[in-house]
Amino acid sequence: MRATHIPAACGLALLLIALAPTARGQDSDAAIAHKLRDTALKDDWGYRFLETLTTTVGQRLAGTEAEARAATWAEATLKSAGFDEVHRESFPITAWVRGREEASVVSPSPQRLVVTALGGSVATTPEGITAEIAVFHLYSDLLRAAPGSLAGKIAVVTEAMPRVMDGASYGAANPIRRLGPSEAAKRGAIAYLHRSLGTDNHRLAHAGATNYEADAPRIPAAALSVPDAEQLDRLAARGKVRVKLVLTPTEDASAKSWTVSAEIKGSERPDEIVLIGAHLDSWDLGTGAIDDGAGDAIVAGAARLIAALKPHPKRTLRVVLFGAEEMNYSGPAYAKMHAEEAPHIALAAESDFGARNIYAFLAPPGAAETPFIHSLADTLTPLGIFLAREPAQNSGDDIAPLHAAGVPVIAMRQNGLDYFDIHHTADDTFDKVDPHELAQNIAAWAAMTYLAAQSDLDFRKLAANASH
Ligand SMILES: [Zn+2]
Repeated sequence: MRATHIPAACGLALLLIALAPTARGQDSDAAIAHKLRDTALKDDWGYRFLETLTTTVGQRLAGTEAEARAATWAEATLKSAGFDEVHRESFPITAWVRGREEASVVSPSPQRLVVTALGGSVATTPEGITAEIAVFHLYSDLLRAAPGSLAGKIAVVTEAMPRVMDGASYGAANPIRRLGPSEAAKRGAIAYLHRSLGTDNHRLAHAGATNYEADAPRIPAAALSVPDAEQLDRLAARGKVRVKLVLTPTEDASAKSWTVSAEIKGSERPDEIVLIGAHLDSWDLGTGAIDDGAGDAIVAGAARLIAALKPHPKRTLRVVLFGAEEMNYSGPAYAKMHAEEAPHIALAAESDFGARNIYAFLAPPGAAETPFIHSLADTLTPLGIFLAREPAQNSGDDIAPLHAAGVPVIAMRQNGLDYFDIHHTADDTFDKVDPHELAQNIAAWAAMTYLAAQSDLDFRKLAANASH
């Protein structure tokens, strides 16, 4: 479903009207959470945030001028959204910028192939690499290949990623892209191609970062569109195939990225922080609407509604728009810059799985049978969201290092059935986002974040007790 126009309702005014008859304090926390939810469903601030970000900034590749522009825009936008404090922090990264990316079958039947370089890939020479391909239908077949067996060849892995609701197949398939180039290089390959980690059948390749291992030669690596991977499968079944690959990406080792943060100071325990985040950078092929402009709109849109409450919730609420997630810098950089603060982060959560509706939430370990979770479940049930049986063990890459440092997490689960049709492709654009589904996300996040910031629960203690 597509939006043809943006609804004009002003959610903030609605919220203030909704809260006017009973001052906070007379209203129960649950009643306020319900009002936040209902206000968010009628509010279009988040949708307009996403429209403006993807239209006026567009793609936001880490470490580039475009990402810097996004940080400047986000800082200004959050400053005008009613937060107590907004700032940004920079950290050093190596920026990787796409160059030419061309591939073709040279023989037996010359034809173009659709590819995109993996983030971090080294370049070929400007003339490219031409070599025979060795096709592996399963990634594990490549891992079983003997050292030296791929000498002088381009390794091609054509394993398909299954379509599943929660996106777990992406994690399972990730080594194909992350580790495949080095595994192929260890066996002698001079370049690496893999079937895109996508569930579509469009002729678009899916970008994504790779990680070279220190003990393997760095070989050029790219993702094939799904139809092109299948074409190579069929051609290779008929005999020898030679492929030409040209990749000319460049790197800038002195680049910077930014984290933009906005805070609502807690009214009773300002030193305790509830942190909600998403990442502001994106891949460069589309405009980063579902990954992760939607997440930015969701967490910022939810927090903005809470900022309008007087008095503020007990704990401090912090929104973090992380930089350089796609190139693996955001989480470690933030955890390092905020290491001393980690013990004061009471709970963290991240939105980085598109703009489709939320269908479940996962309680922090040990918290399922608490008034906080009961109240949250009551608030979210009318949105079609149920409490999953399993506790939250992670909530996203940006906050994973904080979680590893002891910060408890809560997680929302979105319908991801078509997420990997679009993810990291040129099709990741604003028109794919349904305003009603985005509003459902903001409603759920506003209720969850408010109740967490208002809760007296010690989530660390609950988690520690649950693990005994
Ligand atoms: Zn993402």
